[in-house]
Amino acid sequence: MALGCEGLLTLTIKMRVSPEPSLFKELVSLMKRYREALNHAIKVVIENKALSLGKAHKLLYSVLKERYGLPSKVAQDCYREAIAIAKSWLGNPNRGRVPRARTPRIWLTHRYSYRVRDSYVEILGGFRLRIIGWDMRYDNYPNGDAILLFKDGKFILGISKRVLKPAKYIPRGILAVDINERQIVIGNGKIEYRFETAVRRALHYKQLAENLQKRYSSPKYNAWLRRRGIVERRRYFHRKARNIVEDCVKKVSHTIVSLAKQYQYAVAREDLTNLVESLRKLPKEHRVSLLILSYRMLEHWIDWQCEKNGVPLIVVDPKNTSSTCPMCSSKLIENGYRRLRCSRCGFEANRDTVAVLNIEKRALIKMWGALTPLNAPQMTDVAPNR
Ligand SMILES: [Zn+2]
Repeated sequence: MALGCEGLLTLTIKMRVSPEPSLFKELVSLMKRYREALNHAIKVVIENKALSLGKAHKLLYSVLKERYGLPSKVAQDCYREAIAIAKSWLGNPNRGRVPRARTPRIWLTHRYSYRVRDSYVEILGGFRLRIIGWDMRYDNYPNGDAILLFKDGKFILGISKRVLKPAKYIPRGILAVDINERQIVIGNGKIEYRFETAVRRALHYKQLAENLQKRYSSPKYNAWLRRRGIVERRRYFHRKARNIVEDCVKKVSHTIVSLAKQYQYAVAREDLTNLVESLRKLPKEHRVSLLILSYRMLEHWIDWQCEKNGVPLIVVDPKNTSSTCPMCSSKLIENGYRRLRCSRCGFEANRDTVAVLNIEKRALIKMWGALTPLNAPQMTDVAPNR
């Protein structure tokens, strides 16, 4: 999901839809063929740098129609989507493997390939799907391109919409976010909340996947056993780990931004770019890759939720946030497990609380250019949400 520009945001509105039972099989079969065709098209577009419609058309149009049996218009949508995917992959400096679509799907170009009428969507090829429920808040905004997915036996239609960015309020204070491997701590001089990260839970599934691979890579096992079922199971564990992290990140960022909005605070987070870069240099273990995933997703989702909800966002320099005294800026010394103390002014707190207060302080300086007096921290220990 990309952040919008020039006062507009692109949102995807998701809705469940359901085809007429008699066309169910045909639609699923088309979407499966589309998925295969799309994966082929992505490869061809990237290999040949065919990023213009003309070039992609020449290379792909007849193949997509003949080999994958796509109707003409659907074949056009298919290479159009492949170009969009290839562009965003090529533009990502940290790109991994060539992206692949896994879910049966179909891309629908705005105005040509689908239209919404009353409580139905009509899509190219004469399919008519009933809309089961949707978010009506955005009904007044025009529809953009859409994607129909077939996931866990359900059809989900995602329609992109360009909506006006909500205006940002003038914040009454700061809600600082400190992120570490185990916890996400949010607060300021008055409040503090803690959330567990999902890294440890996700790691469990990564390990299951690895054990499975080790066990079945021995030549003692029959080839048939090594094949499909095991591969599927391993993939399931990896996907599960990713979903756990994503789920947790989405929930926590939603909570952070809602809380900020409720109290009219600005959200302040550290710039994690350098941290992520230094993690990338470490040996590739599951724990490290989950941390990178989790940090990058957190930045993305916090920023995105702020944009969407009109919550001001301040990104601060993370240097020494958990080793400097938030009261007098001296260097803190260790004073027991995760506790720090200032030998100059006597301030003492947990490491994460120190980080939160320093992030708040830096955000205040960044926002107002000068430091307004901080309230002495009153520890309010609130039970985390899980
Ligand atoms: Zn101090």
